[in-house]
Amino acid sequence: MTVPYSMVLQPGATLGMLGGGQLGRMFCHAAQSLGYKVVVLEPSSASPAGSVAEQEVVAAYDDENGLAVMLQHTQAVTTEFENVPAASLKFLSHTARVSPSAAAVAVVQDRIAEKAFIASQGIPVAPYAEVRTVADLEQADETLFPAILKAARLGYDGKGQARVKSRVEAIEAFKSFGEVACVLEKMLPLKQEVSVVMARGFDGSTATFPLGVNTHINGILSSSVVGIEAIDPAIEEAAKNAAVKIATGLNYFGVMCVEFFILEDDHLVANEIAPRPHNSGHYTMNACLSSQFEQQARVLAGMPLGSTELLAPTIMLNILGDSWFAHGDQAQEPDWASVLALPGVHLHLYGKAEARKGRKMGHVNIVNKDPALVLQYARQVSDILH
Ligand code: ADP
Ligand code: MG
Repeated sequence: MTVPYSMVLQPGATLGMLGGGQLGRMFCHAAQSLGYKVVVLEPSSASPAGSVAEQEVVAAYDDENGLAVMLQHTQAVTTEFENVPAASLKFLSHTARVSPSAAAVAVVQDRIAEKAFIASQGIPVAPYAEVRTVADLEQADETLFPAILKAARLGYDGKGQARVKSRVEAIEAFKSFGEVACVLEKMLPLKQEVSVVMARGFDGSTATFPLGVNTHINGILSSSVVGIEAIDPAIEEAAKNAAVKIATGLNYFGVMCVEFFILEDDHLVANEIAPRPHNSGHYTMNACLSSQFEQQARVLAGMPLGSTELLAPTIMLNILGDSWFAHGDQAQEPDWASVLALPGVHLHLYGKAEARKGRKMGHVNIVNKDPALVLQYARQVSDILH
């Protein structure tokens, strides 16, 4: 690496982003607001991030010519998704600062390595078995059923998963996945799903955002609620400590999200790690003194971390393409004016050309000192969008 961690990149410098989706776009906005420029590398043109960055390199993630063009513009590169080829991160790291590192990303790209790593840190995970062959399923502990079979790689938003009641069903699902490596996880009785977004700087400093309580619909995050539902402070503390332990153990620099389950009996179980800002941290954009994207830019530039203090209770609601089809099969723009008429409602749209069902198009953050008003406005926004 030619750019030591101790070197601070001053505003005016160009930061690199691998990936052109909405997370990259919101990184651009935050970095630009600090005075940085951004170069985005992404395979498709006019992407959400590419269209707001100062420089757009249209190339495959593993195209060394494209990566080399990116390196002409920047000395520091981060990513917006975990499936970027580790070899690309390695290639970039010969001349630039790359965060997160190829080594850290390699662990979280693979559920088998990820679960083993989390458990190795003394943090509870759901009971599971590694599955590489049908024989592994034949030998899996009976107490794991009913279970969820999850493909080890490339799963997201509930994709690459099957809920299986029995060994027979698990083998069937494994075959339907094409016998790719999987984890078989015991179904746990969930009381709540929560997540911690945190940042870790090159000097080892860490900052954790408040715990968000997440609701999913059809495997896709629907809402994150912060500062409204009562959370046992001991559980919040344990989740934050676990997230910091994971980041430190991975020698991770950047923004990370750890998803947890709170079980019916109040036990805390870590579920998965995202090596980047996360949908469940979008509330920070309007609810905290600094956002998860600002933290990502600060870390990459070698600047001090910002304050994660929560200013007011907040609900984040995702906006899916379904909202364009609330009144029929013909896509129709939702009534944004009515959304924006509600006080303290912040609208974030990602600039995607086409609305499709299940596609993340944007989100709203509903912020108010009075939790009752947050809930009321959230219901109103939801009524307008559905
Ligand atoms: P993804 O990468 O799709 O987010 P997750 O591992 O987070 O995959 O699983 C998706 C959802 O499935 C979780 O948010 C949770 O609701 C449910 N789920 C996953 N694992 C378990 C489990 N062991 N027990 C109960 N529910 C689970
Ligand atoms: Mg998840």
